Amino acid sequence: MDCIFCKIVAGELPSTKLYEDEEMVVFQDIAPAAPVHYLAIPKAHIPGVDGITGENSAVAAHIFEKIAALTAEKGITDYRVVSNVGEQAGQTVRHLHFHILAGRLGGPLY
Ligand code: 5GP
Ligand code: ZN
Repeated sequence: MDCIFCKIVAGELPSTKLYEDEEMVVFQDIAPAAPVHYLAIPKAHIPGVDGITGENSAVAAHIFEKIAALTAEKGITDYRVVSNVGEQAGQTVRHLHFHILAGRLGGPLY
């Protein structure tokens, strides 16, 4: 499959990984939008939040648990978790990912 995040999971594309287990990877965003900008993704190819179902939602819970643990471990207490769904919302990579942003957020989104 021609998916850059599947290639990162497979090690076919390089990335700076902060965390990895059987189900997920967290790595640095290549074009950081804030001083801290990580991407948390499932290893399985799910197209986006719109592809989360009763069959695969356990991985989403697992990812959120690890986001909480990883940020706590790094002393990051104030951060934003974002997942764009669809082109008009800014999704450019059609593999589920959660942006973890911290350090310069510019106030609440809503
Ligand atoms: P989206 O626009 O889909 O919400 O987020 C995709 C994110 O992936 C963007 O922030 C972009 O900078 C990042 N990205 C795209 N290609 C690569 C890559 O090859 N490596 C890494 N580490 N990040 C990437
Ligand atoms: Zn993929």
